[in-house]
Amino acid sequence: MAFDYDLFVIGGGSGGVRAARVAAQGGARVALAEADRYGGTCVIRGCVPKKLMVFASEYPGQIEDARSYGWTVHAGGFDWPAFKTKLHAELDRLEGVYRNILGHQRGRHVRSARAARRRPYGRAGKWPEIFRKAHPAGHRRAPGQARSAGGRGGITSDDIFHLDELPGSILIVGGGYIACEFAGILNGLGVQVTQFYRGAQILRGFDGEARGLISEEMIRAGVALHLGTDILEMGPAGDGWRVKATNGTERVYDKVMFATGRAPNTADMGLAEVGVRLGRRGRGGGRRLQPVERAIGLCHRRRDRPGQPDPGGDPRGHGLCRDGVQCQPDAGRS
Ligand SMILES: Cc1cc2nc3c(=O)[nH]c(=O)nc-3n(C[C@H](O)[C@H](O)[C@H](O)COP(=O)(O)OP(=O)(O)OC[C@H]3O[C@@H](n4cnc5c(N)ncnc54)[C@H](O)[C@@H]3O)c2cc1C
Repeated sequence: MAFDYDLFVIGGGSGGVRAARVAAQGGARVALAEADRYGGTCVIRGCVPKKLMVFASEYPGQIEDARSYGWTVHAGGFDWPAFKTKLHAELDRLEGVYRNILGHQRGRHVRSARAARRRPYGRAGKWPEIFRKAHPAGHRRAPGQARSAGGRGGITSDDIFHLDELPGSILIVGGGYIACEFAGILNGLGVQVTQFYRGAQILRGFDGEARGLISEEMIRAGVALHLGTDILEMGPAGDGWRVKATNGTERVYDKVMFATGRAPNTADMGLAEVGVRLGRRGRGGGRRLQPVERAIGLCHRRRDRPGQPDPGGDPRGHGLCRDGVQCQPDAGRS
């Protein structure tokens, strides 16, 4: 199969699938490579599984509400293995939907492989020369996470969806929306949650009033939130982890989760060879990229916000195609 496309998409997440779909609908010849699972971060290890956990965690509050309205209800316990089985069945179903969307359009080739540039542009190559064997890619842990989470026994949000059992207690490190959402979810599911954030207030960059209100509500709901606090020392203690903190506390937790940032998977792709300058932690610099090398997604230096629309079709991918490939299907073809 010759490598001759109007648009070559690396990554079958929200941005990539949208870009490929919209460009192909506009008549462009499109190829897409995905190294892990179709649907990407949002569907497989982000918004969707998290949202299902949010729904699960809200029932205790609803049961309380029902009691206030005169119902006699008994909550019973939360069956994590039963929930987890259904959660993963739903993710499998959604991944199938993404595969179908990609597979059923003319002029599109989909490949389950990691893309890495091996030859200069302009030389025709075959699939095996352009792609490496598929292996789980997604987003590497950020360097800080790899050191503290992987190296010292902590977990990340990716791991939460695969736990064999819910921990009795957890320390969550971080103050971004992912740290705060998981603090709320796990607290709702009955886990004793402690959260450390090194800054003065959680949710940096969000509306000031909302930040204060959310942190008050989290504390009221039962999350032990420690601001201006970080881990000083951490080591194994039985089945859990003993943590000494900068605020002078020392405690054993069943799990320690680091929600301290993700690193884009841009290493070994040959980006430097085509003039893409990578910044801190391998992030691309958005505007400086040329159209043919434009990167979509978490590689951009942008701050992700929860509650943005349409995990099945990222508008950034749409914009790329609208501005480029879809309107000028012949642009850049030699
Ligand atoms: C826990 C969590 C919760 C979130 N909740 C929300 C939310 O509620 N609302 C919201 O708007 N956003 C949320 N986000 C952010 C959202 O998931 C991301 O912004 C979005 O998924 C980014 O989509 P993308 O297509 O740009 O990248 P991704 O979905 O990460 O897709 C990139 C894909 O590229 C593949 N890939 C990487 N390198 C290669 C290669 N060389 N070759 C082939 N394939 C490759 C990866 O395997 C991956 O599938 C959340 C994120 C997380 C982690």
